[in-house]
Amino acid sequence: MFYKPEMMDALSDYESARYAIFGVPFDGTSSYRSGSRWAPDAMRKASENFETYNSYFDVDLQDLQIHDAGNIEHYSSVDLMLEEITFDVQPIVNDGKVLIMMGGEHSLTLPCVKACAEKAGDDFGVLVLDAHFDLREDYGGIKNNHACVSRNIIEEVTDNYVSIGVRSGPKEEWVFAKDNDIKYFTSDDVREMGIKPVIAEALEYLDCKQIYLSLDMDALDPSFAPGLGTPEPFGLTDLDVREVIRILAPMTIGFDVMEIAPEYDNGQSALLGTKLLREFIAAHAASEK
Ligand code: MN
Ligand code: MN
Repeated sequence: MFYKPEMMDALSDYESARYAIFGVPFDGTSSYRSGSRWAPDAMRKASENFETYNSYFDVDLQDLQIHDAGNIEHYSSVDLMLEEITFDVQPIVNDGKVLIMMGGEHSLTLPCVKACAEKAGDDFGVLVLDAHFDLREDYGGIKNNHACVSRNIIEEVTDNYVSIGVRSGPKEEWVFAKDNDIKYFTSDDVREMGIKPVIAEALEYLDCKQIYLSLDMDALDPSFAPGLGTPEPFGLTDLDVREVIRILAPMTIGFDVMEIAPEYDNGQSALLGTKLLREFIAAHAASEK
């Protein structure tokens, strides 16, 4: 028998699923150190550690309709990879399921945002948690590099966009953000204002009922999540990120956890990312009780 890891409590078949989880083991454009291709299976393995019951929301994941579709076939080229994701996620979104992606690198978020935007229409916004702006026009000559994903979202999908946790980028990105009135909160803003007022201001800005929520795990401080492609000190806490997820999950139609590179730590980043994913499902399910 072969061992096939599956997200614990993802017991539902596709047809009856409310939540459709899938992995994308792709890290082809990672700029500093690669390895996020190993994250989806590391997260499934990490999920075995957790109880099915979430006491905060009084939700038992075992009682929910969660489907783990497995990993999407991966390609060597990022453009082919994004095409494949588009092909695979459109039916999931159009079937009205909540889309949950385990990356893989952050570039993979773009086709998921596109599919959700097409489904949602005008009433839609995007919230990204990230240490980086990801606003480069291209990186190393590649437009769909993971360092460009927010720029592509803003230019190709919607400028109803907010980023939380930013603290790193070349001067040109800070200037670009300012010149283009891009709404963002640095990790220092979060520390000074507190996460709840930041979330409230972000929601007021987005002014919509449906969002895509993208968690680049490097939004977190490396003391919480050291196993990353591009770790950046002075970041958000685990509780900051959990609060964002708890509050925003009910309005989220697509969610992802990206950029974990499990080889660079002893498992804690995959554990935290998986716990946050499970918190997302519990928070969303509680809003539908
Ligand atoms: Mn990113
Ligand atoms: Mn990042």
